Amino acid sequence: MSTNFFQPTVDFIKTLFRDKTFIPLHEPIFNANEKRYVLNAIESTYVSSVGEYVNQFEKMMAEIAGTQYAIAIVNGTAALHMSLILAGVKTGDEVISQALTFVATANAISYQGASPVFIDVDNNTMGMSANNLELFLESNALKTSEGTYNKKTNKRIAACVPMHTFGMPCEIDKIAEICLRWNIPLIEDAAEAIGSRYRNQPVGSFGKMGVFSFNGNKIVTSGGGGAIVTNDSNIAKLGKHLTTQAKVPHRWAFNHDYVGYNYRLPNINAALACAQLEQLDFFIANKRELANLYSNFFKNTPFRFIHEPVHSHSNYWLCSILTANEEDRDAFLQFTNDQGVMTRPIWTLMHNLPMFSSSIHDGLQNSQNIANRLVNIPSSVRI
Ligand SMILES: *Cc1c(COP(=O)(O)O)cnc(C)c1O
Repeated sequence: MSTNFFQPTVDFIKTLFRDKTFIPLHEPIFNANEKRYVLNAIESTYVSSVGEYVNQFEKMMAEIAGTQYAIAIVNGTAALHMSLILAGVKTGDEVISQALTFVATANAISYQGASPVFIDVDNNTMGMSANNLELFLESNALKTSEGTYNKKTNKRIAACVPMHTFGMPCEIDKIAEICLRWNIPLIEDAAEAIGSRYRNQPVGSFGKMGVFSFNGNKIVTSGGGGAIVTNDSNIAKLGKHLTTQAKVPHRWAFNHDYVGYNYRLPNINAALACAQLEQLDFFIANKRELANLYSNFFKNTPFRFIHEPVHSHSNYWLCSILTANEEDRDAFLQFTNDQGVMTRPIWTLMHNLPMFSSSIHDGLQNSQNIANRLVNIPSSVRI
């Protein structure tokens, strides 16, 4: 029984976080240029969607993701929605994603009137399995000159959205190759994976677009915020245009040439993001050191600490362990939360939510196994 290890685990986590009475899962820290930049934004009067920090944020994000362009967006969910619009996803299409993800991925697909298709994840990456993607396409898809179709539903497969779970890169090079071969636009949901790399290439840069989030629980936060990164200049241009109400630039006239969105990131949020991004390398190094401490500790317990997969460099946004089974997981969640150590199970799988219960999926064996046993443990940057 792993319950013998519950108290030592709580004790270890408490020493890591200096015996605080409550240890959150992930808390932001603002002790560098955050206050100064936000104050600058206020004093400049440019607090809304135009301003120097928005420009600077886009420059920094393009550099971090290793792409030509970045578009600042109001949050990660809106960035996912906009990326699907820019990929040409329309009502009645199907979009391939994973059941093991945060609900925003599947919601964004629904906003476009498209149906999510859930592919299983790999056990070691917790992200979309390239093998399962290939199998699904081989047995269901037909590539035509007008696009790739699902032979069984006659719907167009309009995009593929794998997710890099907790910062661990999935097998994104293989997925990118498959998507290219099947002519399916690839959008990486890299909301949790800023700064993570696969074969030394930043995640978010493998497909048509990559999406990031700067919500309060992520490694780097702007209060709320998001970004789309891309190497496609037309997508970058159209993305900026559509997120600013598709207003045709003019000194006074109001003309709009598309149905647009109010999806731009305010300058006051971008100010916070810029100050946080300056510390990204430090945050990641700090978190990787924490992951290493956890890894050593959990060697002598029945819990299995989840390491970054081969060929990858994870930002270790949230550290996770696997318990032996669902009962142990629930007992561990109860024990730790009772002791002021915040732990969380992984998300309910998407096909088990009422909105997505009739979605197509491929069996989802690994997803179910991970969902039953995974627990996230405190993962904040330690200072
Ligand atoms: C956080 C997150 C999002 C959504 O980002 P918000 O900024 O909260 O809208 C999307 N996908 C995944 C996987 C996330 O973790």
